This record gives sequence, structure tokens and C-alpha cells, in this order.
Amino acid sequence: TLTFNRDFFKRSITNMAELIEKERNYLTKLDSDIGDGDHGINLSIGFREVSNKLSEFDESAADIASLMKKVGMALLGKVGGASGPLYGSFFMKMGANVAGKDEVTFDEFVGMIENGVDAVQSRGKAEVGDKTMLDAFKPGIDFLKEEDYTGKEIEAFGQFIEKMKEGAESTVSLVAKKGRALRLGERSVGHKDPGSESSWMLMNAFYEEMSK
Ligand code: ADP
Ligand code: MG
Ligand code: MG
Repeated sequence: TLTFNRDFFKRSITNMAELIEKERNYLTKLDSDIGDGDHGINLSIGFREVSNKLSEFDESAADIASLMKKVGMALLGKVGGASGPLYGSFFMKMGANVAGKDEVTFDEFVGMIENGVDAVQSRGKAEVGDKTMLDAFKPGIDFLKEEDYTGKEIEAFGQFIEKMKEGAESTVSLVAKKGRALRLGERSVGHKDPGSESSWMLMNAFYEEMSK
């Protein structure tokens, strides 16, 4: 059966840091349309810190859960915007049900993402339709939880990414109910929510690693 070891998580996190550098200006542009124009900058500050400290985190982490918790705490500590605590909680809670493990099954990995999404929801108190990152995360994880993916795990994870992308696309026509875009009201319609875009991109880093 398909399993993921600590190295998989380290490589995925490194991949995330690289892709955030690549997409920094694009994500910032999305945020300048309906927010305060710093989403890419915020994530870049956070993931540079994560990237610089990753070996240190790895050496002091007892298991995958603790490694992810350190990543989350670094994001929480470094990122000034709303996305810091939200992505910080995501990573900090990923390990909640896999304490003591240095390798997780695909099922457990799905559970880790589910815990992360739950953490985003309880921290941000957003609902689907509020034009936030949850509009990408929620339909994605709901699909994966329901899917009978035995024997086609990687393909299912690819579909999870597609659902997240569709969710991000769905934010274009929504009126913002949370975050800075809330102030724009109806004028937020016609623009994609930046966090919904960065969230599928981050999860796609896991997909790229498992597809290698
Ligand atoms: P800030 O808005 O504080 O400048 P960022 O620009 O880094 O922070 O992040 C903005 C993104 O955070 C939004 O695009 C949205 O997806 C997400 N966001 C904001 N508030 C919430 C919330 N309450 N719940 C979920 N996501 C949120
Ligand atoms: Mg912003
Ligand atoms: Mg800001």
C-alpha cells in the first residue's frame, strides 16, 4: 500500500517554498484586486522562514506530526496577514491523529489534510460560499473523503486538486463575506480569491511529490 515517509513531507514543503517564490507576484496581484495586495508577499516571507529552518525542524522533530507542527508555527509566527494563522493552523493540526509516526498511509494522509481543513474552518469561521480558501479546500476534501480510491490513490489525489481548482474558480462569482475583501461587497464579484488559489497550489506540491 502507498505510504508517505518523513522525506516525502520535507520534499513537499521545499517544493511549496519554491512554488510560492514562483507565484509570489501573481498571488499578490490577485490580492491587490480585492484585498491589500500582499498575499504572495506574506506567503513568501513565511515559506522562506520555513525553508531556512527546515533542516533544523527536521532534526528536532520526533515524528511527522511534530515536523508539520513546527512548519505551522513558523508560518503563524512570520506571516502578518490573515493567511498566517490560517495556514499555520492547517499545518499545526495536520499531525493531530498521526502522533509517533514516521510514515503514514494514504488514508492517514487524507485524514491529515482533513484535520488541516477543519483547523482553517474553526480558526477563520468561514463557510463555503464566503469567498475564502475554504471554497477550495472544502469541496476538495469532501470529494476525497467520499471517494473509494483503493488502488488509484494518486489519481484520486489528482482529482482532489482538480476539485480544489474548481472551488477556487467558483470564488470569482462570489461576494466576499470574510477577510479584507468583505469591505468591497458586490465589487468583489469578478475577482478570484487569492487564498483559494494559493491553497490548491500548496496542495499541488504534495501531488507533484507523490507523482514522481
Ligand atoms: P490579509 O488579508 O490579512 O492581507 P492575506 O492577503 O495573506 O492576508 O490572505 C488573504 C486570504 O486569506 C484571503 O484571500 C482568504 O482566502 C483568506 N482568508 C481571510 N479571512 C479568512 C477566513 N476568516 N477564513 C478563511 N480564509 C480567510
Ligand atoms: Mg492581503
Ligand atoms: Mg495584509
